[in-house]
Amino acid sequence: MGYIVYFNAVQSKEIINSPYNVRLDSMTDRVVRGSILDKDGQVLAETRVAEDGTETRYYPFGDLYAHVVGYDSYGKSGLESTENFDLLTSNAFFIERLVNTVKEEKNIGDNIITTLDTELQKAAYDALGYYKGAVVVMEASTGKVLAMVSKPTFNPNTLYKNWSSLSSSENAELLNRATQGAYAPGSVFKIVTALEYMRENSDYGNYNYNCEGEINHKDTIIHCANSTVHGEETLKSAFANSCNSAFSDIGLSLSISKYQDTAKDLLFNTKLPSLLPSSQSKFQLTKKSEDYEIMMTAMGQGKTQVSPYHMTLVSAAIANGGVLMKPYLVDEVVNYTGTSISKNYPEKYKRLMTTEEASVLKEYMTEVVTNGTGVSLSWENYTVAGKTGTAEYSSDKTKSHSWFTGFSNVDNPELVITVIVESADNSGMSAVTVAKRILNAYYY
Ligand SMILES: [Zn+2]
Repeated sequence: MGYIVYFNAVQSKEIINSPYNVRLDSMTDRVVRGSILDKDGQVLAETRVAEDGTETRYYPFGDLYAHVVGYDSYGKSGLESTENFDLLTSNAFFIERLVNTVKEEKNIGDNIITTLDTELQKAAYDALGYYKGAVVVMEASTGKVLAMVSKPTFNPNTLYKNWSSLSSSENAELLNRATQGAYAPGSVFKIVTALEYMRENSDYGNYNYNCEGEINHKDTIIHCANSTVHGEETLKSAFANSCNSAFSDIGLSLSISKYQDTAKDLLFNTKLPSLLPSSQSKFQLTKKSEDYEIMMTAMGQGKTQVSPYHMTLVSAAIANGGVLMKPYLVDEVVNYTGTSISKNYPEKYKRLMTTEEASVLKEYMTEVVTNGTGVSLSWENYTVAGKTGTAEYSSDKTKSHSWFTGFSNVDNPELVITVIVESADNSGMSAVTVAKRILNAYYY
């Protein structure tokens, strides 16, 4: 009995969400699709009904929310897809539904109140400008996703006109790079390597390394950025300097099986908690990996792949004392008059690391901003802890993406932000600059 009830109540939602299910058509015959709203009730998607009964799905913010809210034509994407069942369900008052049914008129579907913050979404959209890339902003203490931008973008209002060019475009406008992009992490991966080194060496505070601008091991030569000679370093200063030589050296000292475990703890090679479709991040070292691959991986290159959304979850756990809150995008489902039907509350997803490990990584990420590669984020009226990265993606090492992941208000973490700017070497735009623009828009 319990199983059948579960199947009807919970599973039916998934079955009905299937785009090939005929019941869906009968639902759209009986219900006017509900609206999707931001956290303050601003409309992000609504159905407008003309006098002749023609329905048009309208997105007042055009391309601003294209990937996260999605579209409802040529199939569905984003929240339009995941929330399809609730949008086509009417919890209008019973008598009203009865009267409408008798009059053969449609009922009005339920509305989805999201966690999205239009001010932050605009700030992230503007900060990224014309560059390709993605931004994710989350609230550390609750797991609320506040903003999610992917560029290049598209206007869901005119999707039907542009479908054939968009669906075959080399720029992949329809792809949500935030959750589905698979990028080399570059130096943001030093977070994982530093954590693994700490786990294997209780005396990690005594680590020291003399950087000469490059490391040469078995004919593999790895340079620090611009071949900068960092000199004598601790683990903390090597992290803040993003010293490739030190981290390659650290990589060679690690137990690969334990390194794999730590990567798994941080949700690599794992399905991520995500309402929207997301790609799995890949950590590919094995016991058979050659030394050069271990060195490359430890400092952030190699075959590792991550999404901006995944790095946001890692930073969120660090900000939140090691505990990742379950990320969520839907705050509440209400009927069209605003009466609550169901509500989501913050809940713990998983502990990714100990409180002490999180506090050491937080200290290191603070050092990045105070004395390291993220120094352009210091001297503001807000504080930031984070990690920068440059990820090479061409074999001749001339092309690179720029990364930033971190959080604001370090003592009582507030916004977790991850930015990737594609082909940053061409544009001269760095992810740190994008993050700073967003934080300035939020705090000033
Ligand atoms: Zn160095």
